[in-house]
Amino acid sequence: MKRRTAIVLLTGLMVVSFAVTTATLVRASNQWYCWHWPGPSVGFGSAASGYWSNILNSEANQWSSGTCMNLGGGSDITGDADFYGGTGWLGLARILESGPDCTIVRAEALMNQSYLDGPSYDETDDRHVACQEIGHTIGLDHRKGPNSQTCMNDQFLGFPDFDQHDADTVAAITPGCGGGGGGCANGGENGRKKCTDGIDNDGDGCTDGADPDCQ
Ligand SMILES: [Zn+2]
Repeated sequence: MKRRTAIVLLTGLMVVSFAVTTATLVRASNQWYCWHWPGPSVGFGSAASGYWSNILNSEANQWSSGTCMNLGGGSDITGDADFYGGTGWLGLARILESGPDCTIVRAEALMNQSYLDGPSYDETDDRHVACQEIGHTIGLDHRKGPNSQTCMNDQFLGFPDFDQHDADTVAAITPGCGGGGGGCANGGENGRKKCTDGIDNDGDGCTDGADPDCQ
């Protein structure tokens, strides 16, 4: 399995406007900031064509089938691919519109063909990036380290799929999704960012190093 340094960036905070008090936020372990959808039914559509449309739709289908999210057809999330140039990012996720309490209204996931169509990246890499950017658009942040074998890993490519921890986080942050209380206010396992703060987020033993957040 390849483990290549990736340049998969996550942005979007500059294109939205909202007021938030950090102290009141309760974050899932790999929730992207406090973003979440108001419910599990979200429309996804690809604006790309051919190969990239297939990749984007395939990865969206994976998220839809492997998590409590139902990404049916629509335009709440748009996936696209183009030659965006030497931007420094392979893929980019942006929140285009947001509602109260960090709810996502509209988001997009962009694939940069200027890099990805070159010889350095194969289909597994393309899928990793597409999976990750769509993952961002449903509220997930990056995972770190070689042991995080998920597409949400922004340090190592070669993982075209998300893992159970990602699916659990989606369930925890999305109201009506897999029993999660939802949103920023969900207590659950979420709360704190990392086990290194001494808090066992998952209740499965932070100190034994098994907690995914420790990575
Ligand atoms: Zn990313």
